[in-house]
Amino acid sequence: EPILQVKDLKKYFNTPKGLLHAVDGVTFNIDKGETLGVVGESGCGKSTLGRVILHLLESTDGQIIYEGEDITKINKDKFRELRNEMQIIFQDPFSSLNPRMTVSEIIREPIIIHKTIKDKKEIEKKVSSLMDTVGLAERLANTYPHELDGGRRQRIGIARALALNPSFIVCDEPVSALDVSIQAQVLNLMQDLQKELNLTYMFITHDLSVVKHISNDILVMYLGQLVEKSDAKDLFKNP
Ligand code: ADP
Ligand code: ADP
Repeated sequence: EPILQVKDLKKYFNTPKGLLHAVDGVTFNIDKGETLGVVGESGCGKSTLGRVILHLLESTDGQIIYEGEDITKINKDKFRELRNEMQIIFQDPFSSLNPRMTVSEIIREPIIIHKTIKDKKEIEKKVSSLMDTVGLAERLANTYPHELDGGRRQRIGIARALALNPSFIVCDEPVSALDVSIQAQVLNLMQDLQKELNLTYMFITHDLSVVKHISNDILVMYLGQLVEKSDAKDLFKNP
């Protein structure tokens, strides 16, 4: 059963050199509980595709259907509602966050903004439980992300993405900035969370060894288009 259906989706950017077809007619489904890998070289449109699906960018054309509902065009209220369903984990979650925010403040912020929990004690309970879920020690609550290593920083990004209890997460190069030794730990955490919380992942990466580890099905993008859809086993089988 698909959680997400994307039909002939397009995103064009106006640039000084003319119209850039960053996403150029992409069609695919993602089933509930699946991890769909999206691979392709830098600049092929992976990140734009993920952002258009999440409404962080407006689409140019095509359709996005989530849980059977057409969400291609939505208003502000619907957008807020969707944030409880669809989230993103960034490669560097802290480029857009205030560096003066502590770990607990960062994880708490979406709950405050979206008012999903009102009682102060309940909010603190939720923040502690999120930290526990992603394997961050309680004593780190009042530290700042720049004091922590990359693996712990990404655990904060994951906890923040989970704060509103989403079902669908776009993972945009979540381990690409990490040391190889840490990558496996974070990937294992993400796989455990997927099972535990019944999450669906759209997993964007330029790194085939990462996608091989985590995905069932794989889309290969090239210049804004899907050039191949395949099973991870087929893509990596020896000729
Ligand atoms: P990927 O994630 O695969 O590296 P992106 O989705 O980031 O690719 O980019 C796809 C193409 O769209 C690239 O050519 C990129 O330069 C261009 N692009 C991305 N964002 C913008 C933007 N805001 N304005 C203009 N061009 C953009
Ligand atoms: P930019 O597009 O300038 O690189 P970001 O990609 O960091 O900025 O953030 C884009 C938008 O996503 C911002 O408005 C930010 O508030 C929002 N955002 C940040 N974290 C999350 C998250 N975990 N889930 C969904 N949206 C988020």
